[in-house]
Amino acid sequence: TSIFESVELAPRDPILGLNEQYNTDTRSEKVNLGVGVYYDDNGRVPLLKAVREAEKARIEQAAPRAYLPIDGLAPYNKGAQTLLLGQNNELAVSGRALTVQTLGGTGALKIGADFLRHVQPNAKVVISNPSWANHRGIFERAGFQVDQYPYYNPETHGFDFDGMLAALKALPKGTIVVLHACCHNPTGVDPSTEQWKQIAETVKETGLVPFLDIAYQGFGDGLEDDASVVRLFASLDISVLISSSFSKSFSLYGERVGALTLLCASKDESARVLSQLKIVIRTNYSNPPTHGGTVVSTVLNTPELYQLWVEELSGMRNRIRDMRTQLVQKLKDHGVTQNFDFVLAQRGMFSYSGLTKEQVEALRADHGVYAVGSGRICVAALNSGNIDHVAKSIAKVL
Ligand code: PLP
Repeated sequence: TSIFESVELAPRDPILGLNEQYNTDTRSEKVNLGVGVYYDDNGRVPLLKAVREAEKARIEQAAPRAYLPIDGLAPYNKGAQTLLLGQNNELAVSGRALTVQTLGGTGALKIGADFLRHVQPNAKVVISNPSWANHRGIFERAGFQVDQYPYYNPETHGFDFDGMLAALKALPKGTIVVLHACCHNPTGVDPSTEQWKQIAETVKETGLVPFLDIAYQGFGDGLEDDASVVRLFASLDISVLISSSFSKSFSLYGERVGALTLLCASKDESARVLSQLKIVIRTNYSNPPTHGGTVVSTVLNTPELYQLWVEELSGMRNRIRDMRTQLVQKLKDHGVTQNFDFVLAQRGMFSYSGLTKEQVEALRADHGVYAVGSGRICVAALNSGNIDHVAKSIAKVL
């Protein structure tokens, strides 16, 4: 007899299932907009020049591969923290901010969730409706009840500010609120600066615990502007958790590069928190891997490579923006009268296109254009070779 006999088959990840279907599609004009990855204009995942330079240097050094500390590489953590808080932020200088290297943004969320479960066992977690699908899974598996707050308004293709604010105000003190600090996934819809101020005030007044997820820093308005929400929350003088991911911004998806940053009330508190985070990490995977962390750390801490990276990241951001503009124009060129200008206001890699489930299905079946059932398309997978086919196909299914 097997102890696994009663194990049920789990449902497939819908996006991975879509990829498998795409891979077996034999049509030459097929386009995969279901992915969550940045592709260059040739349809390839880029290897950034800054990354390549840092990798060359690492190979030249023939560095041994000993274990890293449990919390990862110190210069990596410092670099990741500076990207969030800026140079010489008071929280960093006073030792109230702490950062640990994690296995991607997912690893940061998971370590943060396990730690919170330890300190706030009875708290509830709320995520945006809709949100990145793994948010729910990570917090539920950590033992939390997960609810949603209103976020996206399908009628306006915009942000439901009043709905979100009212929901936050009604939450019990201590509730953990997961917020997308920029470039909301899956909708591409972000609150305005003024709205963020009111959200932050509400979080503080209601006594909520903000967990900021920033997986697309640099893809909105640039590295500094995209950190403004993090810096706003950092100025509130409350406990804050931040998960950051470099998967997209360094195009290092498989290297699992991320960081978890916590903002504490004092240096002493920060030391105690770090000691507990180390236990969470130690009992999960002991310590993070060396390669990706070293590469990112080298880029962040070498001025010439940092400058090169900033330029390459701007290139990715501008290419996505250009694709948004072209998509909206080409839809008009193909006779679409419905207003798609909201696509221009969205930020980051994704767009909630407003396409219905049926339209998404027709796109796939009739035109080989793959999108997520929710209507989410990855604008970063559009390129000069496929955008015309995509625009024409959308025009046909509308
Ligand atoms: N958070 C959000 C909102 C994301 O979209 C993603 C990746 O798609 C992540 C976190 C996780 O990033 P990583 O691949 O670095 O684990």
